[in-house]
Amino acid sequence: MRIEGKVVIVTGASEGIGAACAAEFARSGARLSLCARSEDGLRRVAGDGALITAGDLTDEAVRRRVVDRTIERFGAIDILINNAGVGMYIPSWQAPEEEVRRLMEVNFFALLAMVRLVAPHMRARHSGTIVNVGSIGGKFVLPWLTVYSASKYAVGALTEGLRMELRRDGVRTMLVCPGYVTTEFQRRAVGEIPPQVVRGRRFAITAARCAADIRRGVERDARTVMSPPIGWLAVAVARLLPRVVEVRLARMNGTA
Ligand code: NAP
Repeated sequence: MRIEGKVVIVTGASEGIGAACAAEFARSGARLSLCARSEDGLRRVAGDGALITAGDLTDEAVRRRVVDRTIERFGAIDILINNAGVGMYIPSWQAPEEEVRRLMEVNFFALLAMVRLVAPHMRARHSGTIVNVGSIGGKFVLPWLTVYSASKYAVGALTEGLRMELRRDGVRTMLVCPGYVTTEFQRRAVGEIPPQVVRGRRFAITAARCAADIRRGVERDARTVMSPPIGWLAVAVARLLPRVVEVRLARMNGTA
């Protein structure tokens, strides 16, 4: 899809990957509708002409406001980037029920609810792309982020299912699987400090690099974007040698 002139909703756009997507898509000539809780953050990110809607995406009224205001302002929605998400560094068997539910509300239920609101507009125009931000942790489980990985597996399954459901309606879906991206994600995650190996910067990419991968993915109608692409190698090894990879990850987690 050519991005110039397209109307793009970005959730979780006040910082990190979402803010970088706003900048990247604006440079390509998109018209932006940005949402997150922090109004100050959104104002910092939004350029001229961007629409901002501050609020918690776990609230249906906020989600409706984002979609209604976007239609009112721009008359259409071409691309939805479902990016807002949170992490949790707590062993799954110890994670408090309310924290697990809260994480699923943000990472899965709010994302699905945005699809529910946006898909009818895209179907009516027989055009549109839904981009769901998952994680490499949604391709193989990271034991320091088990519950988070579960939420991202759900995002992956949803994205693939939607692609088949909406196929004849002209609506495309794309799954994004970032690896380790240097943002405030780890600091803002619920729970303990992640293991040292995750805090290292060896494999990290910038949010700008991830956003550029997402933009290119939309342009070439990709099904899945691994960012960085070397992540596919890790996925392949995990598929081919699951036992070996599990032991290695458990060691990295300090649980083997
Ligand atoms: P981040 O820097 O913490 O940004 C998260 C964004 O989501 C912020 O703009 C935050 O804004 C927004 N947000 C969180 N909860 C929200 C809510 N309830 N309602 C509305 N907005 C909400 O994290 P990031 O690294 O950019 O992560 C973006 C996405 O990439 C997430 O889905 C994450 O799971 C995924 N990801 C990240 C990494 C990584 O290494 N960083 C790796 C794989 C996948 P407010 O606080 O202003 O609401």
